[in-house]
Amino acid sequence: MRTLFLSACTLLSLAAAAQNNEQMKPEATEVWEPVPKVINAGTETLTAPSDAIILFNGKNLDNWEAEKGGPATWEVKNDAMTVVKGSGLIKTKQQFEDFQLHIEWRTPAEVKGESQGRGNSGIFMQEYYELQVLDNYNNRTYSNGQAGSFYKQKIPLVNACKKPGEWQTYDVIWTAPRFNDDGSLKSPARATVLQNGVLVQNNVELEGQTQYIGKPFYVKHGPKSIALQDHGNPVSYRNIWIRQL
Ligand code: MG
Repeated sequence: MRTLFLSACTLLSLAAAAQNNEQMKPEATEVWEPVPKVINAGTETLTAPSDAIILFNGKNLDNWEAEKGGPATWEVKNDAMTVVKGSGLIKTKQQFEDFQLHIEWRTPAEVKGESQGRGNSGIFMQEYYELQVLDNYNNRTYSNGQAGSFYKQKIPLVNACKKPGEWQTYDVIWTAPRFNDDGSLKSPARATVLQNGVLVQNNVELEGQTQYIGKPFYVKHGPKSIALQDHGNPVSYRNIWIRQL
């Protein structure tokens, strides 16, 4: 009985959160201050340790699929995969809970667009929580939407972006959110992120699924994929591996 009551409450609060979001504008959740300080990162390459699962080795997309199933159709060339505009996000066939993820990314050398329109992609932890990929080398946008942010939730500690056209790294330690049987949140997702070897997120607690419009909120889930965003810009990825924790 108690479980049923809580379930109803959870559903009602989720519906309310979703409805509130529908009445908001995207700008309502943009945070422009403070501006993370710009620093120069060192050089970092990291080959996969022996117990890692190789998600992308530069040769094929065998471990990936399209958002709604079927083969992933991004371009694979020169040991990298690149977003093909309009092909949609791609995600790992395997699903994960707690993990350490290494991924390398590169925004286009030819600079086009500004703010969110320049080299935009993203890496979704468990499909719902976007670690932003964006060219923020001399490109101002809202602080909680720049590279190294958890989109519209967590501003990075510094701006450790390299120049467009250069390879960059993210290393992510991810603790999945946990849920009670009735769907309510037991413990939030936590993340630590290094960009180019520099700490940009220090064991932060997420407020829910990242949202373009409105406030984040949690919806119960179990293990999920790592997903890469097609935001229409030809961003590339390489050397992707993961260690389950
Ligand atoms: Mg993005």
